[in-house]
Amino acid sequence: NGKSFFVDLTLCTACRGCQVACKQWKKLPAEKTRNMGSHQNPQDLSSKTLRLVRFNEVQDDKNKLNWFFFPEQCRHCIEPPCKYTVNMYAPGGVIQDPETGAVIMTDKAKTKVGKVESWELCPYNVPRQDPETGIWNKCDMCIDRVQMGMLPACVQSCPTGTMNFGDREEMLDLANKRLAAVKKTKPKAYLADPEDVRVIYLCESAPDSYHENLLASADQRKTLMANGPAPTKSSRR
Ligand code: SF4
Ligand code: SF4
Ligand code: SF4
Repeated sequence: NGKSFFVDLTLCTACRGCQVACKQWKKLPAEKTRNMGSHQNPQDLSSKTLRLVRFNEVQDDKNKLNWFFFPEQCRHCIEPPCKYTVNMYAPGGVIQDPETGAVIMTDKAKTKVGKVESWELCPYNVPRQDPETGIWNKCDMCIDRVQMGMLPACVQSCPTGTMNFGDREEMLDLANKRLAAVKKTKPKAYLADPEDVRVIYLCESAPDSYHENLLASADQRKTLMANGPAPTKSSRR
């Protein structure tokens, strides 16, 4: 059954400890950014930013502004479309660890820069390409830490209980218990794609409150798995 994360978005304070811990463990450099009028920094995932805490400001029907925070990473899909699509371009580019289920991109995951876009590989639009080498990169579940019996760096660093990691059954159990508790005050709460992924988000507001790629489009997933990386852009979401 492998491993899973349970990410309780109702507890996230956007402290970004996880984002920094990810950079530190993966020894990835900081990126030059500029103020875009939001606390989010940088603006997007990249081959050097594998985890990004997204900030979203949403006005409710009483004109009150609410913050929604979304620490984004690869979902480690149970049946990963990227494994199918990338390996069509670059055999051996994506492998899946049989013990944990971690979906791992290797240095063989390489295409010509600009020829393929992330959404053509992944229904969550997660992997990013190094603009110089053409190599694709994304979260690897901190497989080196997990194989040594440690927690992923993002989970280890989270001070609020948002990030959890363990055996899949245990995480699903925790997710369902927290969902039932949150529903008492927030009846619209739900788990995002829990059957399809190993990074299970508990959400209290509509998917677009967090990010357009919180959920995968079922159509996009099916198209990628059936035909490989050539969907029309309009089929993305
Ligand atoms: Fe949210 Fe935890 Fe990451 Fe802080 S460390 S941004 S609370 S997930
Ligand atoms: Fe692959 Fe995207 Fe699924 Fe991650 S979220 S395993 S990159 S298809
Ligand atoms: Fe980064 Fe590791 Fe967390 Fe993935 S599991 S987001 S690589 S810290």
